[in-house]
Amino acid sequence: MVEFQFTEEQEMLRKAAREFAEQVVAPLVPKMEETDETPEEIIKGMGERDLLAVTIPPEYGGLGLGHVARVIVLEEVARVSVATAMMLQVFHLGIDPILVFGTEEQKKKYLPALARGERLATVAVTEATGGSEPTACQTEARLEGDHYVLNGRKVFITDVHLADVQVVFTRTGEKEFTTFILEKGMEGFRPGRYEHKVGMKGCDTGELILDNCVVPKENMLGKPGDGLKVALAGISETGREGIAGCALGLLQACLESSTKFANERILYGRPIAKLQGIQWKIAEMAVNLEAARLLTYRAAAMRDKGQRCDVEMAQAKYFVTEAAARAAKDTCDIHGGYGVMNEYAAQRYLRDAQVLIPSAGTSEIMRIVIARAALK
Ligand SMILES: Cc1cc2nc3c(=O)[nH]c(=O)nc-3n(C[C@H](O)[C@H](O)[C@H](O)COP(=O)(O)OP(=O)(O)OC[C@H]3O[C@@H](n4cnc5c(N)ncnc54)[C@H](O)[C@@H]3O)c2cc1C
Repeated sequence: MVEFQFTEEQEMLRKAAREFAEQVVAPLVPKMEETDETPEEIIKGMGERDLLAVTIPPEYGGLGLGHVARVIVLEEVARVSVATAMMLQVFHLGIDPILVFGTEEQKKKYLPALARGERLATVAVTEATGGSEPTACQTEARLEGDHYVLNGRKVFITDVHLADVQVVFTRTGEKEFTTFILEKGMEGFRPGRYEHKVGMKGCDTGELILDNCVVPKENMLGKPGDGLKVALAGISETGREGIAGCALGLLQACLESSTKFANERILYGRPIAKLQGIQWKIAEMAVNLEAARLLTYRAAAMRDKGQRCDVEMAQAKYFVTEAAARAAKDTCDIHGGYGVMNEYAAQRYLRDAQVLIPSAGTSEIMRIVIARAALK
């Protein structure tokens, strides 16, 4: 059965997320652009409105609304601030491996405080050896009695300075990888350098440094050797879904600002919206937005039904981020010289769109996943 309608509950969630984005986030965007810092009000607002708890089941204190609901929230938040949506999507991503692979004790220990927004989570896989090749991981976890000792350095980690709980991918043997739940305050655990990106200003990104970090055995997710399964399941489904959700909101923002400007800008005595060259760009954005929504919400609906959807998520992530990048370029072009002025959001859309492309896997890696499935 194919359904193309959101439920009443999902529409209410969309309204609540839009209110949060417009009332709390929008006034803070200029400050985020200027300082590249995350305002406390944003994190607090996400917690108060249960936006962090969307995918956590009610038995652990969450809303249990699932992945279609999650994409709705991300789309609405990204329409106003891709930086804020990116932070939110990575908080969900950090929760995901505990939900899927955690023991009952781990779920009871971590999920309720994460659902209440008292604690925040992230995932740390990427290292300087290359995000596309996670098995080049050099962060080592060595068993010493009843605990592991971790040494290494992760790079490009979203929310690294904010997250109290971090799911970290390590090497435990020549060809063996294992994932652990780490906590702020553990001996030898320290967020490092803050990275300044071209876009998504105000979204925290940086290094995680592990210097003889002592982690109890019971913080392991799954068994020794389950590391790749745990890390890749999260990134290839929840991570790519989240980036597609962010790109959807960006596409929507591009369409709205392009149509507004095209209707208001007068050239040759009439709005530039009457020019066919401008209409073609707008038509391209409108059709890509619809196709992007169908791809993303279908993949999220598969996720909610418990179906495998890594290829569908790769298709969504690839299509929506590339379409958003083209739409952002067209939005700038439609705005003429105003498109490169800080006073207009068009230039921010272009910078944010580029940051979405490598996040959670590059377009080349997405096409490899898609082609591998198509060639089977
Ligand atoms: C804003 C942002 C936030 C991020 N947040 C996180 C996070 O929270 N946690 C985390 O663990 N990581 C995070 N990452 C890391 C992200 O997952 C990696 O940047 C991404 O996987 C690419 O890795 P890389 O940057 O090392 O590029 P590389 O892997 O070095 O890739 C370099 C180039 O080689 C290409 N390439 C690689 N393999 C192939 C191939 N087989 N065929 C053709 N071309 C290929 C790539 O497409 C790319 O063009 C984040 C990145 C960004 C930009």
